[in-house]
Amino acid sequence: MGRYEQLRQLFNETRCFKLVCGAGNEDVEEVRRLSTIYTIAGTHVLDLSANVDVVNAAKRGIEIAYEKASLLGKDIQIRPYLNVSIGIKGDPHVAKAKIDLELCTECGECIKACSEREAISDDFIVNDSRCIGCGDCGRSCSFGAIEYYYKKADFEKILPECVAAGTETMELHAITLDDEGTRNDWKLLNKLIPGNYVSMCLDRTFLSNKHLIERVKEAYEITGERMIVQADGDPMSGGGDDFNITLQTVACADIVIKSEIPVMIFLSGGTNSKTGLLAKQCKVGAHGVAIGSYARKIVKKYVTNEEFDNNLDILKEAVMVAEQLVKSNIEAISGSS
Ligand code: SF4
Ligand code: SF4
Repeated sequence: MGRYEQLRQLFNETRCFKLVCGAGNEDVEEVRRLSTIYTIAGTHVLDLSANVDVVNAAKRGIEIAYEKASLLGKDIQIRPYLNVSIGIKGDPHVAKAKIDLELCTECGECIKACSEREAISDDFIVNDSRCIGCGDCGRSCSFGAIEYYYKKADFEKILPECVAAGTETMELHAITLDDEGTRNDWKLLNKLIPGNYVSMCLDRTFLSNKHLIERVKEAYEITGERMIVQADGDPMSGGGDDFNITLQTVACADIVIKSEIPVMIFLSGGTNSKTGLLAKQCKVGAHGVAIGSYARKIVKKYVTNEEFDNNLDILKEAVMVAEQLVKSNIEAISGSS
C-alpha cells in the first residue's frame, strides 16, 4: 500500500493522530525530542514549521525512535508523515512577539505569562525560534510594550525544499478573512503536493460559519478527496485539560460535517485528553485528532531534561505519558473504547 492509501485508510478507520509541534516552533532540539517520544507513542503525523532545519530535526527524531523503540519493547506501526504548516498574513500561528524596550517597564509579567515556552529572556528579548505567537505575553502587558509581526517567508522557495527534505503533506492556516491570499496559497500547496493530502486549518475567530463553509467548498473543488479540514476551536489555548476548552473544537468540526462536503476532518485547536470523548458523546464523527499545546505540555519535563538523550528511563516515562493521550483519543473517536 502506498503512503497516500495508508493515510487514507487511517482516516477511514477514524483513528489518525497528529502531534502538532507548532507552525511557529523553530526550536529544532525540542522538535527532535518530541518527534522521538510521539513516534514511539504511536502518532501518525508530525505537524511542523515550514523550515528545512525543523523537518530534518523531526526526521532525526524519528530515526532515534526506531533505534530506541525495541529497547523499550515497543513496535512502531506506521512511520509518521511529515506535514509542514504555513499561515497567511494575520494568522497568529505564524506571528512572533516583539518587545519595545522604550515602553517596557521591566515588570516581568510577560516572562511569567510565557513560562511554558520560555521564549522571553531576562533582558526582555524574544527568542524567535521559541515564540509560537500565542499572544499570552501581550495580554499580560499593561504598558502596550508588546506587538506582533508576521514573519513573512518565501514559500515558493522554502516549501519545495521542505518537500525535498521529506515533507509528505502540507497545511495552510487560513483563519483570516483574506479570501484571495487563501486561494493563492492553497493553489501553491496543491501544486507542491499533487499525490497526498493537503489540509486547511480553519476556525471561527474571524470567519462566520457561512464564510467558513464557502471557503471549504471552494478549496474542495481544487483538491477533491485529498482534502483535510483541520477544525480548530480555541487555537493555542495554553494546554488546559477540560471539556470546556475543547468544546469549540468539536463545534467547529460539527459545522463542517453538517455541510456534507466529503473532506477528512481533524479535531484541533484546544484539543486535550477530553477531545475524543467529547466528540464521541456529541456524535461528531471526526477522522482524526491533532493535539499541540497539551501534548507538548505533558511531556515538557522530559523534553527539557538534560539527560534525555542518555537516559532511557526518561524516554520510557515520556512515551508512557504520550501513549495514554494518543490511545485515549483514538479509541474514543474510532469507537473502540
Ligand atoms: S509585561 Fe510589558 S512592561 Fe512588563 S516586562 Fe513585559 S513587555 Fe515589559
Ligand atoms: S507568550 Fe507566546 S507570543 Fe509571547 S513570547 Fe511567549 S510564545 Fe511568544
